[in-house]
Amino acid sequence: MQKGAKKDQIKDAYRKLAMEFHPDRNKSPEAEGRFKEISEAYAVLSDDEKRKQYDSFGREGVYQRYTQEDIFRGADFGEFFRGFGGFDDIFAQFFGGGVRQQQARKGEDLTYHLELNLEDLVQDSDKEVEIPRNEVCPTCNGSGAKPGTSPRRCGVCSGTGQVQKVQSAGFARLVRITVCNECGGRGYLIDSPCKECRGNGTIAKTRRISVIIPAGVEDGHTLRLRGEGNAGESGIPPGDLYVVVNVAPHRVFSRQDSDIYLETKVGVVPATLGAELKIPTLYGDVNVSVPHGTQPGTVFKIKGKGLPKYGGWGKGDEFVRVTVEIPRNLSDRQKEILKKLGESG
Ligand SMILES: [Zn+2]
Ligand SMILES: [Zn+2]
Repeated sequence: MQKGAKKDQIKDAYRKLAMEFHPDRNKSPEAEGRFKEISEAYAVLSDDEKRKQYDSFGREGVYQRYTQEDIFRGADFGEFFRGFGGFDDIFAQFFGGGVRQQQARKGEDLTYHLELNLEDLVQDSDKEVEIPRNEVCPTCNGSGAKPGTSPRRCGVCSGTGQVQKVQSAGFARLVRITVCNECGGRGYLIDSPCKECRGNGTIAKTRRISVIIPAGVEDGHTLRLRGEGNAGESGIPPGDLYVVVNVAPHRVFSRQDSDIYLETKVGVVPATLGAELKIPTLYGDVNVSVPHGTQPGTVFKIKGKGLPKYGGWGKGDEFVRVTVEIPRNLSDRQKEILKKLGESG
C-alpha cells in the first residue's frame, strides 16, 4: 500500500494490526501502548481531511496536525512521546513500508564485551554483567518535571520540535525546517525540573544483568538483549544491549568450530613401546592408549570431547597430535644402550 491507499485497505490493515496487539489477546508488555498507537494512527488516516494532508504532504503533513491538535488535547506527555516514537513504525505498517524510514526513536544501544574461557562454553552458562547505563528516573517517571508538575508544550514550535523558515528567492519559495531553539527540538519545556534527574528524565545507574551464554558459541558472537540499553528521553523506548562474546585463547587447547585441538609430547620409549597417556580435555583428563611404534605427528581422536555444537546437536571431538621428544642429555650408559640398539637393527 502506498499513499493514496483506499479507505478499505486502511481499514483492513487496521483490523489486522488491532487484532494482533489488542491487550486482551496479546499479553506482551508493549501490546497496550502499541494498540493505542495503532488506534491513533487509524484515527488520523480514516479522517478524510487528514488523509488529504497525508496524500499531498506525506507523513509530515499529518504528523504536524496530529501533534498539534490531537495529542495535546489531554497533555499526557507519556502518551505523546509513545505516539511520537512509534509513529513512523505504525505508518510504515499501514502503508506496507512505503513511508520514508526515519531515524528510529529509541534510547541508545549499548555494547559490552564479555571475556570467557573455553571451559565456560561446555554448557549453557549464566553470567552476570555490570552495565553502567541510563535508566528512567523513578522520581518523575521520565518526564523530567518535578512531581506534581508537567512539562509544558513549547509555544515556539507548537510542540513539533521543528520550526519552518520560509525564504523567498524570486519566484521560488524555499521552506527550511530547523530544530526549534526554544526547546532544543524536544517540543516541550520544563519549568520546574525534577531534582533527581535535573530535568533529563533519566539517571545514571550501574545495573547487574544476567546473560545466558549458549554452549559452544563462537568468539565474536553477539547476543542482543532487547530493551536493556540506555533509557530514552520521556517515554521513548530504551535501546538494546549487545553482549559480544570474546573467548580468550587457551593455555593448551585451540579450537576450530566445535572441535578442540591439543599437542602432546611423548617420549621416545613410550612412543616406541606403546603406553597409556593421561590427556586433558575440557571435561577432565581421559586415558588414551598410544600403540607401540607411534610416529611423530600422529593424530588421535577422542570422540565427543569437543564443544557442544552451537545451534546443532551433539558435540565436536578432541584431536590430539603427538610430538615425540628426542632426548638431549643422555648419560654415557644410555648412549651405550642406544648405540647397541642401532647396531642390532
Ligand atoms: Zn526525574
Ligand atoms: Zn520548541
